Amino acid sequence: MATPEKEPLHVLNRVFGYDAFRGPQQEIVEHVVAGGDALVLMPTGGGKSLCYQIPALVRDGVGVVVSPLIALMQDQVDALRALGVRAGYLNSTQDAEERRLVEAEFAAGELDLLYLAPERLRLESTLRMLERGRVALFAIDEAHCVAQWGHDFRPDYLALSQLHERWPDVPRIALTATATEATHAEIASRLALEDARHFVASFDRPNIQYRIVPKGEPKKQLLGLVRGEHAGEAGIVYCLSRNSVERTAEFLNQQGVAAVPYHAGLDARVRQENQSRFLREDGLVVVATIAFGMGIDKPDVRFVAHLDLPKSVEGYYQETGRAGRDGLPSTAWLAYGLQDVVQQRKLIDTSEGDDAHRRRLAAHLDAMFALCETVECRRVQLLEYFGQRGEPCGNCDTCLTPPQSWDGTVPAQKVLSTVWRLQHERRQKFGTGQIIDILLGRTTAKVSQFGHDALSVFGVGGELAEAEWRSVVRQLIARRLLAVEGDYGTLVLTEASGEVLGGRREVPLRRDPARVKAARPARTAGPGRQAAAAVELSPEAEPVFQELRAWRAAEAREQGKPPYVIFHDATLREIASRAPASLAELGEVSGVGENKLARYGQAILGLLAAPEGSAPAGSAPGASAQAPPAPDGPGPQALAWGDEPEPEEPGWEPEPEPEDG
Ligand code: ADP
Ligand code: ZN
Repeated sequence: MATPEKEPLHVLNRVFGYDAFRGPQQEIVEHVVAGGDALVLMPTGGGKSLCYQIPALVRDGVGVVVSPLIALMQDQVDALRALGVRAGYLNSTQDAEERRLVEAEFAAGELDLLYLAPERLRLESTLRMLERGRVALFAIDEAHCVAQWGHDFRPDYLALSQLHERWPDVPRIALTATATEATHAEIASRLALEDARHFVASFDRPNIQYRIVPKGEPKKQLLGLVRGEHAGEAGIVYCLSRNSVERTAEFLNQQGVAAVPYHAGLDARVRQENQSRFLREDGLVVVATIAFGMGIDKPDVRFVAHLDLPKSVEGYYQETGRAGRDGLPSTAWLAYGLQDVVQQRKLIDTSEGDDAHRRRLAAHLDAMFALCETVECRRVQLLEYFGQRGEPCGNCDTCLTPPQSWDGTVPAQKVLSTVWRLQHERRQKFGTGQIIDILLGRTTAKVSQFGHDALSVFGVGGELAEAEWRSVVRQLIARRLLAVEGDYGTLVLTEASGEVLGGRREVPLRRDPARVKAARPARTAGPGRQAAAAVELSPEAEPVFQELRAWRAAEAREQGKPPYVIFHDATLREIASRAPASLAELGEVSGVGENKLARYGQAILGLLAAPEGSAPAGSAPGASAQAPPAPDGPGPQALAWGDEPEPEEPGWEPEPEPEDG
């Protein structure tokens, strides 16, 4: 079939500068090159793009890529052009003249890859245009957008089924990082891909360290994470509400951490600008709602932090998956507390839609709670959720600092019986704060007002501190042994509560660890895993790496492109530690392909040969865009507002509950 220079592996080496395919890439590429249809499930960062880019380069004609990510097409095309691939795109951001030029290139066979927004394919004119050229394959990226149950449904995707009818002989490859069985099946049926071969990669992301910590003062905890482990590095902080996005971004900026907000309420131009800055500047933090992130292929996001609980394990996995696409060690950090449990349960109760819809939301949430409350390896539990098996990983908080479990049956009974007494003896409902005050025997104004000091359970809970009681309540709610009701998050019994009260069910609980120390993630790759490609830098190589980054930042600014379009961090690290002395040696570094070697090779060799500390050629003074870590810790004043309640949309009132029933 292919001539040697059209061998997939050869194209991988020459164009992309990589030595080997990863995971199932090779099988997928060979299958599509041979004309087969494919449905590919691969985690974010798994390397989906190469699965269609290489067949497009190997097969005759143009690879047509359908993608909903219009705002990112320019960057994707830039990145390909930097590799010497002839790529173009057609979408609504262009004027008629720009589109006409791309169409002419397509018709003349001057493109290897053409990116298209899905709404283009609804136009007969686009379809006829495609018929005038030669299509090598259709790649349908973010294929879960065709699934109506998914959260990213795009009606335009439904039109994609006609590709098969009009081009029966052109292979189609649909790709997604959404792993659930239901979505998978829906993609296959809606895109008429039932006969396609399915490829499912491991969903493990070994370079991501998963940590879920008890929420105390979330902003202060976040600051500790950013300063302590990720100073000057790019990260994403997810918050539930627009309001908390704004406030958190402001807080980080006040503390000397460069951050921009991103949410659906911002003006489209501001949003685009902030996204673009995040992609282009080194070491910027974006604070965002879940509106941010689909298709963001910035490879060097070093941490993803959640200040609020994601609604599902799928969401958590997708969002955390945006960290460490380059395979280098990264952190997924989530702060989780009683308020999250109360709030999420409440959001479901007040959500639109029928009971079945609410039940589905609740099931998603239960799985998320289970992940938070587990005493087992987080990674094993995540993989199990996606139907895959794993081994305790050594790179998550529960592996690094195994939490203890303890028998919480008696404390659980005390909480439940307090709720029962209020509900049945007094016909009253109260929130967590009041329940804990009663258990601890505190004669607060509210306790006196309602005469709760006369209850038989008053003061029976001295064995635990307030924080521990909150942890008990949180875990009871997470397991549906207790429910939350109404606008003020009042506690009520569930059907299962009776089993605990009647002594027929034990309640093992997780003891919240005092504080999990950050640990260096494991660097070794286990069997079947994608190796974390981190190169540990020696003290001599570190400044060289920084110089290379500064050179890259200057180069990127000059070209108006994101730095990673020039080289990834992983590539710069390898250059710094191998110190190649010739173009041939430089060409062996992973990520240095033919085109980039020709373009930047001399500049890099010059920079490496220059005496230490001398300004590298082409770099402006102060070119490093890396934000310096703030000099000193903030005063206690500055941190104190971390425990202020966040008013959340829609109308959520955090504890202590302002009223009662
Ligand atoms: P996805 O689209 O699945 O999230 P990408 O296609 O963006 O992932 O790939 C993630 C990163 O891994 C990119 O930086 C890409 O260049 C790199 N990559 C992909 N395949 C390989 C490979 N075989 N060898 C080395 N790096 C790879
Ligand atoms: Zn683990």
